[in-house]
Amino acid sequence: MKAIQVVKAYDMQLIEKEIPKIKKNNEVLVKVMATGICGSDVHIYHGTSPVATYPRVIGHEVVGQIVEIGSAVSKLKIGDRVIMEPIEYCGKCYACKLGRGNVCQNLKVIGVHEDGGFQEYICLPEKLLHIIPDEVSYIQAVMIEPYTIGCQASWRAGVLEGDIVLIYGAGPVGLIVLDTVKNLGATCIISDINDQRLAFAKEFGADYTLNPLRDQVEEKVRELTGGMGANVVFDAVGIPSIFANALKIASVAGRVVSMAFTDEPTPISMLEITKKELNVVGTRHQTKKFKEVIMDFPSRIDKIDKLITHVFNFEEYEKAFELSDDKNSGAGKIVLTYY
Ligand code: MN
Repeated sequence: MKAIQVVKAYDMQLIEKEIPKIKKNNEVLVKVMATGICGSDVHIYHGTSPVATYPRVIGHEVVGQIVEIGSAVSKLKIGDRVIMEPIEYCGKCYACKLGRGNVCQNLKVIGVHEDGGFQEYICLPEKLLHIIPDEVSYIQAVMIEPYTIGCQASWRAGVLEGDIVLIYGAGPVGLIVLDTVKNLGATCIISDINDQRLAFAKEFGADYTLNPLRDQVEEKVRELTGGMGANVVFDAVGIPSIFANALKIASVAGRVVSMAFTDEPTPISMLEITKKELNVVGTRHQTKKFKEVIMDFPSRIDKIDKLITHVFNFEEYEKAFELSDDKNSGAGKIVLTYY
């Protein structure tokens, strides 16, 4: 079978591998059907991932069909259409004991620390697979994993009906957070320097769009909220200065959520946090959000179809990654198919 492997930074190759074999009786063999290209895959390719090791078969947004099952597999059968939950955790560390295996001390992310799904077959423990609804195609189902990220972020923020939410960044993650919080009954302001993305965000449900190249974001948010500020601010960009601004723009009793992976330091005002009693939280991966997202997923298919802008056969991965590198392409989610 074939697999897409990042050998080292900027060196991605289509390699030949043996089809994996079921080694433990709780495992199943999945014929991969579709995978999504995520920003973190691009980071591994560029050598800018703070966590990945090489060489690595990347891909953690993975959808397929079960072709073989181990003897102890009880909930899944051959022919089932499934999505992969890409994290494995120890169950023993502090985070795991709190039910937050997504930040496990010994966390292993499939496609980052272990070989992922950009290959024709993958062997996985049964517990990492969730059945996708019949009416959802393999290509559409790729968006389930990114939606769990939005669901986690909004849960971490404690978004409430009627909240006014500000999202920095109208890329795929920002848009998914937008859709998630709109679904909870929030009003949403989204900020991005790319007008094409903003136009799309507006169509996607944003109540207000701001472009910091033209708009004074803080001033505008104050105006739109009668001076209150945003109750929840998501940083889905990751430029350090944005975080400092987010603390300023947040309302009293507000929440500020970092989704960024930059380790560049930035000066912040502690007064903003103390005086307004802000909750400043991080969000990473997801914990137990697949069921919730899958249940709701069929009702969101129109949105999902808008987010998926390009589909390539996996052997055209070079074209697909070129497109994802092109900041002006206007591409949303890029999906690779394996059939
Ligand atoms: Mn992803």
